[in-house]
Amino acid sequence: MTTRSHSRAVVREPASLDTLLARGGALAADPYHATTPPLYQTATFAQEDPTRFGEFDYTRTDNPTRRALEEQLASLEGALGALTYASGMAAVAACARLVKPGERLLAGADLYGGTQRFFESLEAFGVRVDYLDSHDSRVMERALAAAPTRLVWLESPSNPLLEIVDLSAAAVHCARQGALLAVDGTATSPWLQRPLELGAALVVHSATKLLAGHGDVTAGVVATRDEALLRELAARRNAEGTALAPFEAWLLQRGLRTLSLRLERQQRTAELLGEPLGQHPAVACVRFPGLLAHPGAALHACQSRGPGQLLSFELRDPSRAAEVVTATQLFTTAVSFGGLTSSISLPTCMSHASVPSARKARAPLPAGLVRVSVGIEDVEDLWGDLQLALESACADSGTDARAHAPAAFG
Ligand code: PLP
Repeated sequence: MTTRSHSRAVVREPASLDTLLARGGALAADPYHATTPPLYQTATFAQEDPTRFGEFDYTRTDNPTRRALEEQLASLEGALGALTYASGMAAVAACARLVKPGERLLAGADLYGGTQRFFESLEAFGVRVDYLDSHDSRVMERALAAAPTRLVWLESPSNPLLEIVDLSAAAVHCARQGALLAVDGTATSPWLQRPLELGAALVVHSATKLLAGHGDVTAGVVATRDEALLRELAARRNAEGTALAPFEAWLLQRGLRTLSLRLERQQRTAELLGEPLGQHPAVACVRFPGLLAHPGAALHACQSRGPGQLLSFELRDPSRAAEVVTATQLFTTAVSFGGLTSSISLPTCMSHASVPSARKARAPLPAGLVRVSVGIEDVEDLWGDLQLALESACADSGTDARAHAPAAFG
């Protein structure tokens, strides 16, 4: 079976991300000139004779639909190449397994629960996993100096606390200590933030979220400028069979075409909701990098084109959080985020329920933390729905929620 060559002369520099999203991903050779890239829903490709392979031979190794998608993703990330996987976790696992037994993985202070669960599983194979206890890059610098490290894993904004890490500073510290920096960019997408340009060695996505955007695909992405890493990851993906299937690749490409339209609208709505939510008497604090009061707002603005569409908030009465989540009508109670429709969740018992118990004990999430993924619905409708749900949390506390909540959208 052939293994596709990933050597390319230069890193792809996108002319305009909007154009790349809308028009990228065309097949290099399509005899029928389809205006939409066709789907090659096939497991294998006929050979002229047994000893000679064509450009494609077996879909686990390479497929024209998936290759077109990966070339588009590489351009979007400014990468040498991109690889797509059957899920975000398959992409996370592929990168984390670059850390060999006896080596150390240094993880960010706040990460997706499933990532933490996978990291814990690596300890059984002799990988040392340490967590940073702060998002301050000086803390990372000291942690890196303390022991040799193969891989540093960060999210910025992080899920679910929306904390911001200085990615450029992290890349400098990693380079100084010979560590690889991997950034999980699921909450931003390359339309908002391009970690490879900031010095990361690897960028990873759960494409299930913003990239696919319609809640109908499970997929993962890894992109890098490092040819050796790309080859190693591609060889293992072929050997293990974790690549994205052609139909999912096709759906993901379809989703990508509208990423900028969706995200522009979603993050604008998130910005509009953040302010009144923070002033609501039932709410103790809002975590959203689009708010000036967010401690990482200025840093985030330097390394990203926008705040994104994910926000979280804490209730003054944490015991009412489940009630608020359940009371919303327009926000679907669901674990994922980044789709067209708004959703709401309680990370502690949903997306982050799988956090290993030692981590939960050491760095517990705030009680009553609610995470909101803002969709493309009308902002007034969304705010009205949230207000009604929050009223229930104020009902017995002697606070008149309606009287305090401002009408924000004139
Ligand atoms: N990374 C982040 C930040 C996530 O939030 C998730 C899932 O929620 C993943 C990775 C895993 O992605 P998937 O669910 O597509 O496997």
